[in-house]
Amino acid sequence: MNLTTKVLIGMAAGLAIGLLINLTGLNAEGSFVNEYLVNGFFLVVGKMFVNALKMLVVPLVFFSLICGVCGIGDIRLLGRIGTKSFALYMLTTAIAIATAIAIAGGIGIGEGMNISSDANFTGKDAPPLSQVLIDIIPTNPVSAMANGEMLAIIFFAILTGVSILMVGKKAKSLVANIELLNEVMMKMVTIVMSVAPYAVFCLLAKAIADLGLDLFWQLIGYVVVLVGTLLFHLFFTLQAVLVLFSRLSPTKFLRKIRNAQVFAFSTSSSNATIPVTLRTVTERMGVDNSVASFTVPFGATINMDGTAIMQGVATVFIANIYGVDLGIAGYLTVILMSVLASIGTAGVPGVGLIMLSMVFAQVGLPLEGIGLILGVDRLLDMIRTAVNVSGDAVVSTVVAKSEGKLSLAVYDDPNAGILDPESTHIDEESEKELADTVSAIHDK
Ligand code: ASP
Repeated sequence: MNLTTKVLIGMAAGLAIGLLINLTGLNAEGSFVNEYLVNGFFLVVGKMFVNALKMLVVPLVFFSLICGVCGIGDIRLLGRIGTKSFALYMLTTAIAIATAIAIAGGIGIGEGMNISSDANFTGKDAPPLSQVLIDIIPTNPVSAMANGEMLAIIFFAILTGVSILMVGKKAKSLVANIELLNEVMMKMVTIVMSVAPYAVFCLLAKAIADLGLDLFWQLIGYVVVLVGTLLFHLFFTLQAVLVLFSRLSPTKFLRKIRNAQVFAFSTSSSNATIPVTLRTVTERMGVDNSVASFTVPFGATINMDGTAIMQGVATVFIANIYGVDLGIAGYLTVILMSVLASIGTAGVPGVGLIMLSMVFAQVGLPLEGIGLILGVDRLLDMIRTAVNVSGDAVVSTVVAKSEGKLSLAVYDDPNAGILDPESTHIDEESEKELADTVSAIHDK
């Protein structure tokens, strides 16, 4: 059985067990199941796994991006990849939110509804664009890495790569070593991914046992329209972009992206999923590392199609509930704000709500409105993160294809890059050889 199948089984089992615990009330405060299983075993295993993924992000992005820049070897090409991916990320996000507003507005969700908000939501200001631009340049690269500031890390890695290129021949061995480090990091991704079926089971069992589906029925209109629009974007808009710009097969894409989607779904974080997305687009889809090492972490930070859709649907929903008519100008502001807000915010769980509060403040919708959808947001976050990550992969593929940096042989091969048990196997002969070399160095 391959890893994707195993992970999908883990996911389904986690959903089922979580729902069972929730529906039978086994999860009551202080009960054995609650203390030792849901908030014990499931929580610990799930968090350890997410930590392991996050642990890989910074070194992986740093090393692979330096390799990427050195691999391109042409600064102008780097500029082109940057411009193209930025334009496509903004375009897909804008289409996403416009579709969401059109669908939700056309259906008129929330009209004539009168539900009271019981949760208090306090918004947080998203940083202004000027600050986002300033922060791209880190005052201290080490602290940027420690805090996982993705745009700053990308900037520093690119600058390092460009400087290595300028040093030229003398830096050859350095590049070879960084390439090796990159390979080692990729191996680590494989190791972490191999425990995913069990970890995904724990993550989902915990989430569903805590949340249940009660609230969903109350907000069913919102949930259905949102999920419907997310699926429309994933299966129609993104695939149309793929076909239109690169003439690649959407079915192959959809089959190969599944792993990254499941990781995104289980962790609700595009950032934590970077290692898996990177592996998926390079090894399963054939995107050259020189493109993917830039477009994937860049996309995880600035591209959030699913989140933009949530903002569009939520804005229409809450405007209708409060009887506010935003008008065309209001909705255009919403589109612009969402696109801008997505640039400065990292792909971490729940950040979409913070972006929403920024949009609401701009168009004058009451922040308490967000309290209405708070209860169902955790699960919807999982779905929209999967869409966010799919958008990153589509753009990476399109940009790579347009620059002749996509291997069609890999893209067309259904088995390319599939993780099999062999991939974490230690080859005894090479292990011994390496040990001998190390002891020889010691003896010297
Ligand atoms: N969790 C999402 C992501 O990481 C962001 C959000 O919509 O809250 O992409």
